Amino acid sequence: MQETEKTAQTTQDNLIIAHETTTCCIVGAGPAGAILALLLARKGIEVTLLEEHMDFARDFRGDTVHPSTMEILAQIGLADRVLQLKHTLAPAMNVETPQGIIANLSFERLKTRFPYITLIPQAQFLACITEETKRYANFRLVMGARAEKLIEEDGYIHGVQYRAQDGWHELRAILTVGADGRFSRVRKLAGFEPIKNSAPMDVLWFRLPRQAGDPEGTDGKLGIGQGHVFVQFDRGEQWQIGYTIPKGGYQKIKADGLEHLRADIGELMPAFADRMQTITEWKQVSVLSVESSRVKRWYRPGLLLIGDAAHVMTPVGGVGINYAIQDAVAAANILTDDLREGKVRTSNLARVQRRRELPTRLIQSLQNLMQKQLLERATDTKGSPVLPLMFKLALHTPVLRDIPAKLVGFGPRRERVKNL
Ligand SMILES: Cc1cc2nc3c(=O)[nH]c(=O)nc-3n(C[C@H](O)[C@H](O)[C@H](O)COP(=O)(O)OP(=O)(O)OC[C@H]3O[C@@H](n4cnc5c(N)ncnc54)[C@H](O)[C@@H]3O)c2cc1C
Repeated sequence: MQETEKTAQTTQDNLIIAHETTTCCIVGAGPAGAILALLLARKGIEVTLLEEHMDFARDFRGDTVHPSTMEILAQIGLADRVLQLKHTLAPAMNVETPQGIIANLSFERLKTRFPYITLIPQAQFLACITEETKRYANFRLVMGARAEKLIEEDGYIHGVQYRAQDGWHELRAILTVGADGRFSRVRKLAGFEPIKNSAPMDVLWFRLPRQAGDPEGTDGKLGIGQGHVFVQFDRGEQWQIGYTIPKGGYQKIKADGLEHLRADIGELMPAFADRMQTITEWKQVSVLSVESSRVKRWYRPGLLLIGDAAHVMTPVGGVGINYAIQDAVAAANILTDDLREGKVRTSNLARVQRRRELPTRLIQSLQNLMQKQLLERATDTKGSPVLPLMFKLALHTPVLRDIPAKLVGFGPRRERVKNL
């Protein structure tokens, strides 16, 4: 069992009330951290997962679970359980302009048991994964625990100091994993500077009511026009809407007034024009900062970054969750033996980065290209968006047409859990 020793001791400015040890300390119970914890716990490795929030309420992160993740869940016997959670299936993604559908990304031809995007509220998905992990006595989940300091000795990271409800704790570990998302504190504490690699944007995030006659289990929708992308997710009782705006553009949109925003969105997605009237106050609209970046090095001796902490994904293509999960699978595959031996080789941390960096860079470039081509350049003489030639070729040539769906559904490198 993992050790917890309750003693009061002051280190620097913090009054440490408990000294704990584990084999792997994971900071952040998002998709990357939760899946890595599960995969390591299944192998009998002691894991402590720290999550700064008291629950998994995560309105602002997207709900997409792609075929690659469903296959990973199937490998470990969890797919059917996850599919018992309330969900909807999107067998295709339509790209729409006010003039109609200009592209259809179909997952139905993919060779998989799960030829669709599954939309599951992320809070329920994470609760399901962590509940499963709690079956293992060697796993500990600490909610309301914010990692704030790294324990560094002789250039090696030996764990973290975290602040919990009852005070400061020191958690020593053989390996510390920063899976703490796009604003990663672990990344900052370790001294890594992310390199930004696409024009940043912001997203307006709000909900619209479902109306009688709305399709159930509908295809996903991506509306483009007037320099904006409009994304629509089925959230059961309501539609979750994302609407991209230029970085820092919120103040101008606010100054123009809600009426203006309602009209712009109504023009872009006429099916929602009437229900935009339910948006009557700015407090119904959240502004989310979006960027795309990556760190040059994902590791230091004793420390590894995965998921958005290593490479911040934009919502374009809705792939960030699945890339975070694939990082977790690669890390578990490569590091399990080291963790069993109680010593993590830095060369193996480098292997995790080598395995995952190329797919990440490829997909970020694709996100960047889509953002640029679809939003900034591709318009016809009337200024309406059109698909650039290379997208048309990719979607309409029989031998090529499944490549975009494969890239979104599985990514350029498919991870599978080894040594089940
Ligand atoms: C507006 C928006 C919409 C998106 N939509 C989609 C989508 O539809 N589909 C998709 O695949 N991707 C989407 N993404 C991207 C996706 O959210 C991320 O790529 C994905 O969540 C990354 O997972 P992660 O586990 O690495 O990090 P996160 O999901 O960010 O999880 C990090 C966790 O760490 C915790 N944490 C942070 N700091 C600490 C600390 N110091 N101590 C302890 N815990 C800490 C956080 O509370 C959080 O729970 C979207 C992103 C944005 C911004």
